[in-house]
Amino acid sequence: MKKSFLFVFVYIGISVLTSCQSDAKLSGYAELDAWAQRAANAKSNIIGYPCNMNIELEEFYKWYMANGIENMMLNNAGDPFVENSAPFNAGKFEKEVIEFFAPYYGWSADECWGITTTGGTDGNNHGIYFGVNYLQRLTGEEPIVYVSDEAHYSNIRLADLQNLEIRLVKSDLMGRMIPQELEKALDEHHPCLIIYAFGSTFRGAIDNIDSLNAVLARHPQMPVYRHVDAALFGGYLPFTQYRDMLDCRLHPYESVAVSGHKFFGMDEPAGYFITSRRIYDQQKDYNIPYLNENMRMIGCSRAATTSLKFWWLIHKVGAERWQEQAEAMLANTQYLKQRLDEIGWPCWVNEYSNTIFFKRPCQAVVDKYVLACNFDEQFGGELAHIVVMQHVDQQEIDRFIADLQTMK
Ligand SMILES: *Cc1c(COP(=O)(O)O)cnc(C)c1O
Repeated sequence: MKKSFLFVFVYIGISVLTSCQSDAKLSGYAELDAWAQRAANAKSNIIGYPCNMNIELEEFYKWYMANGIENMMLNNAGDPFVENSAPFNAGKFEKEVIEFFAPYYGWSADECWGITTTGGTDGNNHGIYFGVNYLQRLTGEEPIVYVSDEAHYSNIRLADLQNLEIRLVKSDLMGRMIPQELEKALDEHHPCLIIYAFGSTFRGAIDNIDSLNAVLARHPQMPVYRHVDAALFGGYLPFTQYRDMLDCRLHPYESVAVSGHKFFGMDEPAGYFITSRRIYDQQKDYNIPYLNENMRMIGCSRAATTSLKFWWLIHKVGAERWQEQAEAMLANTQYLKQRLDEIGWPCWVNEYSNTIFFKRPCQAVVDKYVLACNFDEQFGGELAHIVVMQHVDQQEIDRFIADLQTMK
C-alpha cells in the first residue's frame, strides 16, 4: 500500500515538474504572457492594416539561435555597396537584397544603389533628402515639394522636417492626384520635388505617373526629382501582371521606397530605398575615416537583422511564391467586393488595389477585425477599410461577411 502511494506521489510530482519546464511559453511575467496570448489569438482576424500575417521566419530564428548570433551585436553601419570586412556587418547581404529588388523597378543590378530601411517612412525620408541634394547641386536652390492631399502623412512630416515648402495637390474622388491641379500648383521658377503616391493609405489610390510626368514635361526648364512612395503596392504589384507599372524605364522617376513588413512578411518594421547610381553620385559627401566610404545615407547604424531576414525570405519564399500570393490577394479583393455587393453594403475599391473601403460597421465588428476607420463626406461619412493581405483568404472573408450581417 505504502509503496504504491509513494509511486503515485512521485509520478504526480514529476509530471507537474515536466509540464512547468516544457511550458517555455511562460516568461514568469503575467502581463507579458497575457499580452503574447492575446496577440497570438487575434492574429488571423487582423485585416484592417496592411500586414502579412503569414510570416515564414521560424527557420530563420532557429538558424540564428543555433549559431549563437542572438548573443552578438550586429550592425550594418556603412555603405552596403562598398566592401566591409567587419565581422558584425552583414552589408554583403543588404547589397544582394537591393540588387534582387532593383530590377523590379527598372534598374539593373549594376546601375542601382540602395539600403534596407526601418520602413516606408525611412525610405521616403531618403527620397526627399536625396531629391533635395540632387536639385540643390544642380541649381543651388531648394525645391518646392508637391504631393497629393491623399498621400501618406509621413511625406508631409518629412518635408516639414527639412523645412521645405509643401504644396498639397488636390486628388480626385478615388484619391488620385489630379494632373490639372498639379499644373495649377506648379511654380516653374523653382525646382520641383514631387512625390507620387503608389497606393495611398486609406483609399489605395495610385497617382498616374505618366499623366503627371506629362504635366512636368510642359515645363522643360524646371529641374525635377520624382520620388515614389510605394510602401505597400510597390511590394506586390511587381509580382503581378501589372509589374510594368513601376518600371522607371517606362514611367520615369528617380527613387522608390517600399515597406518590408507589409507585403514581404518581415516580422517588424522594415523596408528598402532604391535609386540609381546617377542620383547617388550627386549626394553630399561625408568622408568618415572609420566607416567604409563617403556616407550618403541619413542614418549611421542600420539593423543587420533586416538584411539577413530579407535575404532569407528572398531565398525561402522567393519570386515565384510572391507572385502566387500577389495574384491571390487581388483575386480575394475581388471576392470581398463581390460579397459586399451581394449584401448591398456600400463599398469602393481602386484599380490594382487590395484595399477596399466601405461603410463603417458597428463597433463590435471594428474591434473584432481591427479595422482602420476614417471619415469622408463624399462617401457618406463614416468609413472603414480592409487590406486584403496574404492571410485574408475566402474563409476569412466569409466569416467577416457573416459577422457583418449578424453582429450589432
Ligand atoms: C505604410 C505606408 C507608409 C509608412 O510606412 P512605414 O513603413 O509605416 O514607415 C508610407 N506610405 C504609404 C503609402 C504607406 O502605405
